Amino acid sequence: MTNLQREDFSKWYIQTIQKADLMDYSPVRGCMIFKPDGFEIWEHIQEEFGVRFKEEGIRNAYFPMLIPESFFTKEADHIEGFAPELPWVTEAAGEKLEERLALRPTSETMIGTAFSNWINSYRDLPYEINQWANVFRWEKKTLPFLRTSEFLWQEGHTAHENEEDARNRTMRMLDIYKEVIEGVLAVPVYQGRKTPSERFAGAVDTYSVEAMMKDGKAVQAGTSHFMGTKFAEAFDIKYLNRDNKHVFCNTTSWGVSTRLIGSLIMTHGDEQGLVLPPKVAPTQVVLLPVGPWKKKPEIVERLEELQKQLKAKGIRVTLDDSDNSPGFKFNEWELKGVPMRIEFGPRDMENNQVMTKMRDLDDKVAVSLDDIEEYVEKSLEEMQVRLLETARQMRSSHEYTNIDTLDELKAHIEEKRAAGEPAGWVLAGWDGTEESEAKIKEETGFTTRNIPFVPAVEKTTCIVTGKPAKHTVWLARAY
Ligand code: AMP
Repeated sequence: MTNLQREDFSKWYIQTIQKADLMDYSPVRGCMIFKPDGFEIWEHIQEEFGVRFKEEGIRNAYFPMLIPESFFTKEADHIEGFAPELPWVTEAAGEKLEERLALRPTSETMIGTAFSNWINSYRDLPYEINQWANVFRWEKKTLPFLRTSEFLWQEGHTAHENEEDARNRTMRMLDIYKEVIEGVLAVPVYQGRKTPSERFAGAVDTYSVEAMMKDGKAVQAGTSHFMGTKFAEAFDIKYLNRDNKHVFCNTTSWGVSTRLIGSLIMTHGDEQGLVLPPKVAPTQVVLLPVGPWKKKPEIVERLEELQKQLKAKGIRVTLDDSDNSPGFKFNEWELKGVPMRIEFGPRDMENNQVMTKMRDLDDKVAVSLDDIEEYVEKSLEEMQVRLLETARQMRSSHEYTNIDTLDELKAHIEEKRAAGEPAGWVLAGWDGTEESEAKIKEETGFTTRNIPFVPAVEKTTCIVTGKPAKHTVWLARAY
């Protein structure tokens, strides 16, 4: 056991994801390789969102990755926001292209152009699609999963008859994000509105779900944007309304990315390695022969039978009968974050039982082989719930609502630094000005995460100016 997580969280993170075999670096800066265990976590996340999107009537489509420069220049705020991060293709088959092509950072421009051709009448609305794809944003500072120059995500794009319908879609998707991130990844989030300086380039309103990592820093786990008619005007997404008039659509877009993998690792991982929520774990249960099992082939035979039994119940189960010692295997599977371990040796065989251990609990429990299927199912469900509860407790122990001035905030940060503890999140009053927001960032490194819909406390004065607060905001250091 080490103290690496407590002492150097970033180092712990990088070491853990590599040792657990989730990823590797690639020769291109900021572009990472997803190894099978890392990619399978993403596949389970995709499945969970996928069924919910379909229930909403949102279908998947696929659009090209290369976007002509002229598309970008149509929406001024959008290009201004994304220009610094765009990689360009300028040459193909040895010839310079007439118009350079961007590797998409997001697809509003491409999909908006398609929508303008596809949408004609109010009968075509709402028009709602989702795309699973890779996107590129040439980030200055990168961190595997959390901030990469190429990442995988889903981007939903919808067009509606009026503002109300579009706003409802924006909010509904934010709710689905919360439902999946909490219910599947066991990562608690706060929903809220982004301040104008943190808004998506070109949006009227951006809403986010924000999560706290174990080191007290924040991660923007997902965003949902209401565009009003801004993109519709730029891309000419018009329809014939019920009064036979041509009017612009109201549009939305919303996305979550492979950043979610990094978020769940930083929320649940411990000094031993990963702790994976059962719903996304590539292996949910590992079966290990123990004791002098090599002399008794029936030990492995019984485990193979158990593996079949559990598989039939839809449980993802691995049998490790490799030659490594039990101690080595325990460490290895703990590091990989497998939710449940089942040990079985000659003495267990005599007693018709197995020894079980949950990744997030200390004790081993003996379970009769007669009851094992139900026991495994129940234990995985309970662990799923427990992880969310533990993460909620971790979060609430690093939230501060009693800091009223910038000096108090600085003192708080200094005190926590000296104690080697996370500075956490601070719920603060904000006068709504960009100057105050910039000053907080400049002097403390904390940024406004969002304006939570349901703050625990409504703050009345601005943390910078002492003037009446317009909003209560979450402040934190962020990834
Ligand atoms: P946006 O289109 O900027 O609203 O981004 C949608 C979501 O993608 C964000 O809420 C993040 O969770 C995620 N995201 C943004 N940039 C990156 C990045 N460089 N690497 C990984 N995920 C990202």
